[in-house]
Order: sequence, then structure tokens, then C-alpha cells
Amino acid sequence: MTGKTLKLMKLREEVCALHAELPKNNLVAWTSGNISARDPETNLVVIKPSGIKFEDLTPENMCVVDIDGNVVESDYKVSSDTASHCYIYRHMPHVYGVVHTHSRYATAFAAVGREIPCVTTAMGDEFGGPIPCGGFALIGGEAIGEQVVLALKDSTSPSCILQNHGVFATGPNAEAAVKAAVMTEDNAAIVWLALQIGTPLPIAKSEIAKLHYRYQNVYGQ
Ligand SMILES: [Zn+2]
Repeated sequence: MTGKTLKLMKLREEVCALHAELPKNNLVAWTSGNISARDPETNLVVIKPSGIKFEDLTPENMCVVDIDGNVVESDYKVSSDTASHCYIYRHMPHVYGVVHTHSRYATAFAAVGREIPCVTTAMGDEFGGPIPCGGFALIGGEAIGEQVVLALKDSTSPSCILQNHGVFATGPNAEAAVKAAVMTEDNAAIVWLALQIGTPLPIAKSEIAKLHYRYQNVYGQ
């Protein structure tokens, strides 16, 4: 596509740069994991091409699809999770960024089909409750997206894990979704460590709600 003006160059640059955060934060191995972002104006989605190494990703080789997953502009095969990312965007209007990883500790919880319980104040701040675990689904079509939407529907958490699979994190933009993916793995590791030395103590739901409210509404600049 040399010499041609590509669509959504700014969003391509943003999504490409954010992909570097996945290996940097030890969330992915080899070519696994992907990020997408939805453009608020056109509803087009920028997503990672399939099977390309993280260091070889460029704004130019990102794929652009419509919200139904049809390719709009791409020289490469789109990520195998594209249909599921698009399903999430169609069913969660407030979501503009989606991240998928098989990060280790969170995926260990997924392997046993167990939610990540909310047992630290930091988790209360960020997630407002447990990180739910959705059902099993096969890769390729929309089935994964369906399970993610079901898992997040009645949850305060921006991310979930899917049974036997890994992490799906969402956000009002791609960067927020990446942050949710990083925090999911960090909290999964803390809970996993706690489980080695004892039984994590639950925090009362009303206290979690207070933590979450303060963090989302008062904390920060
Ligand atoms: Zn996966």
C-alpha cells in the first residue's frame, strides 16, 4: 500500500504503539495476544494482523475492519479474534478498546474455571468486585465475544477471563483496556500468591463499593 493514504492513521499509530506494552508487561508469548480500538466517528475497528511478531508491527500493517468484522483495509489476514472483538463492540456501546492476552496467572484461574476474587483494596479500586470467569468457547467466530459480553454484563469489572482460555479486557479507549489487562494479571498474581500461604480474606461488598466509588470518582488529578 506504499504511497496510498491509509484510513485512521492516528488510531493505527495508537494501536500499534500499545501492542508494545503487551510483551513489555510480560502478558504475551510469541505472537499471542491482540489489541483493537474502535473509532468513535466511523465505528471502524483497527486490529492486529494475524501471526505477526510484536516487533514487526507497524501502523501500516494494522488491519481496518467494519463493526461486523468485514475487512475495509488490510494487506494481511486479520487477527483470528476479530469477529469476537467486533461482537463486543456491537453489544457494549461504551467500549472503544479491547485487549486479549493469555497472561500466566490470570489464565491459570481460567484453566480451572475460577473467578479472581476481590481480596485487596487495589482490586476493589480498579475492578469493584471479582474478575468474572466466562464460559468455554471455540476460537474463530463470535462465540468468544458472546461469552465475554455475558460475563461482563452484570459486572463492575472492565475485564473477564474465559474458561480454559485467557483474559479479555475492555475500556473507553484502547489504552484503558491495556491498563485493565495489566491490572488483571497483577491482581491474579497477588491472589495466586495469597492462595499459597493461606485463605485470602474476603472484603465486604459494601466496602468494595466504597473503594470503587472513591477511586473512580475522587482519586487522581
Ligand atoms: Zn486467545
